[in-house]
Amino acid sequence: MSKIIGIDLGTTNSCVAVIESGEPLVLPNSEGSRTTPSIVGFTESDERFVGQQAKRQAIVNPERTVYDIKRLIGQKFSSAMTNHLRKTLPFNIIEHTNGDSWVEVGGNTYSPQEISAMVLRKMKQTAEDYFGEEISEAVITVPAYFNDAQRQATKDAGTIAGLTVRRIINEPTAAALAYGYNKERDSTLVVFDLGGGTFDVSVVQLRGGVFEVIATCGDNHLGGEDFDRAILDFLLQRFKAETGIDVSEDKMALQRLKEAAENAKCELSTLTETNINLPFLAVDDQGPRHLSLGLSRAQLNDLVYDLVERLEDPCATALRDAGVSKNDVDDILLVGGMTRMPLVQEKVEEIFGKRPHKGVNPDEVVAVGASIQSGILGGEVREVILLDVTPMSLGIRVAGDRFSPIIQKNTTIPTRASKKFTTTETNQEIVSIDVLQGEVERASENKLLGMFHLTGIPPMEKGLPRIRVSFEIDADGIVKVTAMDEKTQTEQSIAVESYSGLSSDELQRAIERNK
Ligand code: AMP
Repeated sequence: MSKIIGIDLGTTNSCVAVIESGEPLVLPNSEGSRTTPSIVGFTESDERFVGQQAKRQAIVNPERTVYDIKRLIGQKFSSAMTNHLRKTLPFNIIEHTNGDSWVEVGGNTYSPQEISAMVLRKMKQTAEDYFGEEISEAVITVPAYFNDAQRQATKDAGTIAGLTVRRIINEPTAAALAYGYNKERDSTLVVFDLGGGTFDVSVVQLRGGVFEVIATCGDNHLGGEDFDRAILDFLLQRFKAETGIDVSEDKMALQRLKEAAENAKCELSTLTETNINLPFLAVDDQGPRHLSLGLSRAQLNDLVYDLVERLEDPCATALRDAGVSKNDVDDILLVGGMTRMPLVQEKVEEIFGKRPHKGVNPDEVVAVGASIQSGILGGEVREVILLDVTPMSLGIRVAGDRFSPIIQKNTTIPTRASKKFTTTETNQEIVSIDVLQGEVERASENKLLGMFHLTGIPPMEKGLPRIRVSFEIDADGIVKVTAMDEKTQTEQSIAVESYSGLSSDELQRAIERNK
């Protein structure tokens, strides 16, 4: 049987690992790196690069270099996230006919699924080079806070890349698996994951080889990119104050500033001072203008103070939902490159009252966990059982724009549940079912995952028909909803995954194009 690989498909970097002789092994790519930038570059002649080479061309070719695609996957064009990204990313984001966000490069359009597939294909190739045989199955990780559309889109990305996605698992769960693998001791663990685009915090219990995620919370709109943006805004202001030139519309200058901002941020994790030098950033009648300044860790900490404060609430919510006090927490596991920042580590210590665990590599731990899950599926790893939870409540809209949850957040998956509803008007023959995900009482403030109608209800007094709405979440966190009129046994259902995302034609076309 061929190997199942574990892939951490990150916002910024991706990583692939496998189980070899019972032990997880991170595989280096063809450039010798253990992580690969999740970046795709297209040249003028439509050649394609993925990874480090694409990253290198970002400055000279910003409009043809696609990064951060994970923030766009499964997002409607009208969403606040897309709106934000359209202002900050140098490449062109467009609205596809189904309302989703796609990208346009050199006259060609690509779904985020297809771009992600190009990154996945590189990870697949890395594993194939290592084993010298074709690899066709994978476990892929996603942020715990990914909604249904984003999970399905990630699965589609795998399909386009020529991979059967055996399981989608949550990144923090994967990290906990990596931490707890081969450990005997029972413990309560917090996984604190701050990556390039998202923040997740999960409380996980390890008991006798069973990994149970008991609560998870996070912020889909908080990550390293926001830190870079805060530094970039500061650099823009400083340059304008010194030269009077506003380069905020100059894509090449912005790309250089963005890279300098990120480098400075990373350097200030180990140094207390750094210099930012960008010669020839702009030209005016006085000739070329350069940006040159020093940035201290203290200054950086001031710039990102508000972002770091936002880490607190999700942690408190996760602990509360888990019914665990911070004193019950045995270890805090740091995941994601941003957790290397000293201010973030100080915040973690302040929130949980203890120092985080430093024994694992935050860039690799998620892929290692994914490989352990692959090992479980492939039968190479036996002794662990993984119980994951659904991160958000699921339910439907009822009269008065109220949200009626059917599956509560933090329920262990796979799961199913149902609830009975009725009509609000006499002789009502159709009910429309709006499937929602979220925690807000007012239905319209939650995320609409899909909608469908149940027809053919026999004419009756209002309040008499009995309509059973059932929700089912599979092990990948993907949702299926059924509505049944109990009298006529008429049934309608939707697999929510088919509602948003690629049509089967689009999926097929993308597969062909990426063969
Ligand atoms: P990830 O999504 O886990 O790959 O995290 C990537 C994010 O971590 C990016 O925003 C990086 O800039 C950031 N990062 C990586 N290394 C460091 C570091 N040494 N200090 C601060 N941030 C870092």
